[in-house]
Amino acid sequence: MTIYNFAAGPATMPAEVIQQIKADLPSYNDSGMSIMEISHRSALFEDVFQKAQQDMRDLLKIPDNYQILFFQGGCTLQFTAAPLNLANKYHKIALLDSGHWADRAGDEAKRVGVKVDVLDSTKADHYTKLPVLESLPADTYDYLHITTNNTIEGTAYTNLPETGMTELVGDMSSNFMGQAYDVKKFGAIMAGAQKNLGIAGLTVVIVRNDLIGKVKDLPSMVDYQLFAKKESMFNTPPVFAIYAAGLVLQWLKDQGGIAEMERRNRQKSGLLYDFLDNSDLFTAPVFKADRSLTNVVFVTGNPEIDQRLVAQAADNGLVNIKGHRSVGGMRASLYNAMPYEGVEKLVDFLTKFEKDYRGLH
Ligand SMILES: *Cc1c(COP(=O)(O)O)cnc(C)c1O
Repeated sequence: MTIYNFAAGPATMPAEVIQQIKADLPSYNDSGMSIMEISHRSALFEDVFQKAQQDMRDLLKIPDNYQILFFQGGCTLQFTAAPLNLANKYHKIALLDSGHWADRAGDEAKRVGVKVDVLDSTKADHYTKLPVLESLPADTYDYLHITTNNTIEGTAYTNLPETGMTELVGDMSSNFMGQAYDVKKFGAIMAGAQKNLGIAGLTVVIVRNDLIGKVKDLPSMVDYQLFAKKESMFNTPPVFAIYAAGLVLQWLKDQGGIAEMERRNRQKSGLLYDFLDNSDLFTAPVFKADRSLTNVVFVTGNPEIDQRLVAQAADNGLVNIKGHRSVGGMRASLYNAMPYEGVEKLVDFLTKFEKDYRGLH
């Protein structure tokens, strides 16, 4: 039975990439050594590293005045690193509270002494829609932090908030490379790799040159300027995760790039949302205009039925559709590597489940 993995992260990877890893694993490029065994300073790895960065720059059309930095510590460490590096003038940032990860980013900023003003929150609506930026006073905030895609709640920004002269910083972890955004609109972008770019252990930061190097003597492992200067090799980088991301980036190029990925993700999520909106048993609670292309949240309203559904889906090879514990219900993550057939199978299964359920009630 084919297994379709709808997990939110770590998440499904392209089958071709897994095959390539398998083929490469014992002896990378006929070196007689595994990629896991070679030095991050070797010519072999240098090629992997440079190609991954260039492919990312090409795919996202990252301008030359932006750095691509590779960190460890997950996106969570960037909730600390971003304010330490970028909140250096007003020591104050603005936040749109769109859910769990935005909230966490605010918390971590406060821990390093940065003031956080929540300009709008949709908590009272259970985060079923996105907060709105009404106005942003100039010369007040070092930046506005947003979560471009809310992995847990299933919302995503299609139109970015207009921040005027204030920098925009985006946590793009769960729709990085899955939805096209104009990099130039951001001062900085952060994204953990394990949702849409490969495996855990690697976090990407894309940051504009003029924003870094303003704070002296930051802890080395979170210093954007130092990582830029050392080309992300201040210490041993996550070699295997960078190699895996490189394969995913090549795969993305082969598939037609980010616009094509977005088109497919719209098609996949559209199929599922259409089904849910026409169902009597299931509801997609997220406000239509704010729906995520990569994380589709749905409920029956009855936790017992949800539980039965999640178990039966798994028996049918449709695994990890249980919703986050804070939201309940179900969540199907439809990242780039999820094929259209996987979503078709899911919709077929849900259709049958609903029919059986009606027969019993
Ligand atoms: C998963 C996720 C994070 C946290 O990532 P870690 O790598 O676990 O630190 C942060 N933001 C968003 C939007 C996420 O989806």
